[in-house]
Order: sequence, then structure tokens, then C-alpha cells
Amino acid sequence: MTSHIMPTYARQSVTFERGEGVWLWDTDGRRYLDAVAGIAVCNLGHAHPAVHEALCKQSKTLLHTSNLYGVALQAQLADRLIELSGMDNVFFGNSGAEANEAALKIARKYGHQQGIEEPVVLTMEKSFHGRTMATLSATGNPKIKQGFLPLLAGFTHVPYNDIPAIEAAIAADPNIVAILVEPVQGEGGVNIPADDYLNKIRALCDQHNLLMMLDEIQTGAGRTGQFLAFQHNNLLPDVCTMAKALGNGVPIGACLARGKAAEVLTAGNHGSTFGGNPLACSAALAVLQTLTNSDLITTAHSKGQKICQLFSETLAGNPHVINIRHKGLMIGIELDKACGALVGQALEKGVLINVTADNTIRLLPPLIIDDTQIATLTELLSALIQEFSR
Ligand SMILES: *Cc1c(COP(=O)(O)O)cnc(C)c1O
Repeated sequence: MTSHIMPTYARQSVTFERGEGVWLWDTDGRRYLDAVAGIAVCNLGHAHPAVHEALCKQSKTLLHTSNLYGVALQAQLADRLIELSGMDNVFFGNSGAEANEAALKIARKYGHQQGIEEPVVLTMEKSFHGRTMATLSATGNPKIKQGFLPLLAGFTHVPYNDIPAIEAAIAADPNIVAILVEPVQGEGGVNIPADDYLNKIRALCDQHNLLMMLDEIQTGAGRTGQFLAFQHNNLLPDVCTMAKALGNGVPIGACLARGKAAEVLTAGNHGSTFGGNPLACSAALAVLQTLTNSDLITTAHSKGQKICQLFSETLAGNPHVINIRHKGLMIGIELDKACGALVGQALEKGVLINVTADNTIRLLPPLIIDDTQIATLTELLSALIQEFSR
């Protein structure tokens, strides 16, 4: 079935045909509760009517004209993103990696503007920023780099959630021009930093004239209980990247910039044929409208709390469960051993989950998940975890 597809993924042996809300149906008609949401993409659930209608309407009107001309929906989407984020302007691409590429180009040119010929971007260990050459160079995971040397120069990595390590790196290298960091590390294991981590990074960036660049590709669009995770911290970054849930499944990426960072890239500096095309922008506008005209963002926190509370109760006393944590509906259940096998076992029981950093169950359910579905998810998965760690 997948024999002519390059084997870059270890896929589960299931193919989905149809979705609705938190549910997916496979080609045999079997139903699954989706607690992965296409890796934090389908925040509104599958086949959301607002997205469906926007796509139908736009596909009857205009799909693409390129960025050689004005694109009305792109301008509208930028206006809306600026209102919701407090940033100043946006570059649109088609994926998370592309959004981060734009951010990294801003950082480098910003460095050159200050006479730094070999600008360095500080990023974190265990981070994930994408699979293109620049973004895998930025990524703090040796496995992702293996086989792809030489990497791009100009990256330094320090441990996550470690402010003294950032201070030491800045003191040691005058070429550092920017800090790129995830508000919560997703692929790295749902690592949630200290509450004031981002505030301290903001202060260091101000003090040393560095760009504060947040990778909100996984945390953005309501996932953590704010539209963007930095809004928990009452601050503004200089650059912020989004993708995943912005189009609820339609590919779109965005690099938002503010202040001096918003003025770095000029005509001819960067581009994308598809970036911000009418079809993708119509989907993203429908997503933003749905998110902001509902309580989905504000309830993400209480739903995540509820899920973690239920797991804490059912898994209480299980010595193999090290930690249960969440920021909104980004949930991690860390075990004391590798637990990748749970993914297939959960699939058998009709639940889609993800395991990251070898030993952490990562749940990214759609924000529309309700109490009954939360009960189903936690009951089924708790039983599996109990069985697995026996
Ligand atoms: C998924 C992800 C990316 C990469 O996005 P793609 O759309 O796969 O290129 C980058 N950063 C973070 C934090 C992500 O979760």
C-alpha cells in the first residue's frame, strides 16, 4: 500500500477514511478517538463545518494567483493575526519549517545590520524546529541531524529551562543575535518550563539587544489555553512562528514579527509561491473566527486540568508513572521506561495517542473534546498504562 512512498515514517498499519469531531473511521469502518489531532493540527476536530464551508466557497472563487499581486484574504488574515497576537506584520509560508526559516533569515539579516558577519542563533537542547537544513540545524536533537552533516553554521544549543546557561552562552559569544525557543517543548517530551522562563528570556534579549523568537508552531492557535502561549506571560516576542493548527489541516505557516524585527526583510529578500494563497487563508480565517467566537481557547486549560486529574486518580500509586503534566491541552504522561509500544496497543483499543522522547505519552486532543470523550480517553488509556507497567 505504501511501497512507492519513501520510507521516512514508521507508520501504524491503519488508514483513515473519514473524520468528524474527535472521531476518525478507518477503511474497515472502525471508529477511533483521536487524541493526537494530526499532531496538534486539527484543533477544531475533523471535518469542521466552518473550515469545510470556507474551503468550498473559496475553491469555487479563486485558489491561487501568487504573491506577484495583492491577495485580499492574505491581507485579512494578517490583520486578524496582528489583532490577536499584538505583533506588527506577517510572512506566510506553507509549513512550520518554512515559518522558522523566515524567522532564521530575519535573525541573520538583523545580525548583519549590526555588523555581525557570522550571526549565531541560540536554541535549546531537546528542541524541535523542523526538518529543512536550517531548521534541523536549529533543532536540539542529535538523532534528527544524523546523516545530514554538514549542518548550517550559526547555532548554539543550551539546556531548556536553564536561564544561567543562556546567560553564560551570551557572555561567551558576542555573535549571538537571537534566541529561538518553544514555550513548551512538544517533540522533546512535553517539557514545560518555569512560569517566568519566557519573561527572563525577554529581559535578557532586551538587555543584550537580541531577538526573542518563539516557535509557537505546536503551542499556537489555542492549544495551551491562550491564542499564543506567550500570552500567559504578559510579554511580546520579536518574532513568533505558527503553522500546525492555523489551518486545521490545510497547510499554512506564518512568521509574525514586531518592531525592529518587522522591518528586517524587504522586497526580494524572501518569498514563497504558495505562501498565503487564497485557499489556505480562507481556511485559517475560518479557524480564527471559530476559535475567537467560542470558549475553545479558555476551556483548553480546564479540560487539560480535568484530563490530568483523572489520570492522576486512576494511576495513583503506579510507581512507573513519573509525572503527569499539561499546559492547556498539551499533555504529557512520563513513564520510567520506553513506552512506544503503547501507541499500537491504544490503536487496537480505538484510541490514537503519541509517544515522544521515548518515555512520554503525549496527548494533543482536539480542543472540542467533551466530558464524555475525556472520560472514554482517560479510562481506556489508564487501563492500558496500568497493564503495560505491571
Ligand atoms: C511540527 C513543528 C515544527 C515543524 O513544522 P512542519 O510543518 O512539520 O515543518 C517546528 N517546530 C515545532 C515546535 C513543531 O512542533
